Amino acid sequence: MPENLHKLFVISSPSGGGKTSLINKLFEDSRSANFEKSISDTSRQKRQGDLEGKDYYFLSEKDFKDKIKKEEYVEYATVFGNFYGTSKEEIKTKYNNSNLILELDWQGAYAVKELFDDAKLIFLVPPSLDDLKQRLIKRNLDSSEAIENRLSEAKKEISKSEMYDYLVLNDDFDKAFEDLSQILFEGISPIDFNSRASKDLIKRLVE
Ligand code: 5GP
Repeated sequence: MPENLHKLFVISSPSGGGKTSLINKLFEDSRSANFEKSISDTSRQKRQGDLEGKDYYFLSEKDFKDKIKKEEYVEYATVFGNFYGTSKEEIKTKYNNSNLILELDWQGAYAVKELFDDAKLIFLVPPSLDDLKQRLIKRNLDSSEAIENRLSEAKKEISKSEMYDYLVLNDDFDKAFEDLSQILFEGISPIDFNSRASKDLIKRLVE
C-alpha cells in the first residue's frame, strides 16, 4: 500500500454496543473536519431508518458475490448470515484525502490491520452483557431470538478485543465520547491512554 499521511481508525463493538451514536456524535464535532467515515457494502436488508449511502450501500447477495469475485473488496466478512465489506474504491477515494473511520467487526479489524500496519483499532466495551441486552431491546430492531443470537456473538467479539490498541468502556455516553476524542482528535498513544475497561471486566464478560 502507498504511504499515506492520514490516519486510519477501526471502531468495533458488539452489536448494540453504541458505536453508531458515538460515531455520529464525533462527526458533529468541529475537530472532525478532516475525518471521513467509510461506508460499507452489505447484503443485509435495510432496517427502519437505514439510509442508502449513509449507513451502508445496500446490495443484493448476487451483486455482493460478483464484487467478491472481481476482488473489489479490501476485506469482507459474514456477520449474522449477511455479507459486509469495505470496497477498495471507498478506501481509495476517502483515505487519500482524510483521516478515515471504519466501523467493522473483529474480522474486518484484523484484516485491515494486516493491510494497514498503522491502523488504530478501537474496541467499545459494554459495562455488562445485561446493559447490551437492554440496549438491543430498547432499539427495537430485533426479535427476541435475534437478540439472544447477538448476545452470544457479543461474547465472541469481546474475546477478540485483546489485540485492539484501545479499549473504550461505553458505560456512559459522554465519558466514552471523551475517550474517543482523545484517541481520534488528540492522537493519544495506546500507552498513554488510560483505559477504563479493565482486564477483569473483559474476563467477566466472556465467561
Ligand atoms: P449491523 O447490521 O448491525 O449494522 O452490523 C453488524 C456488524 O457488521 C457490526 O459489528 C458492524 O461493525 C459489522 N460491519 C459493518 N460493516 C462491515 C464491513 O465492511 N466489514 C466487516 N468486516 N464488518 C462490518
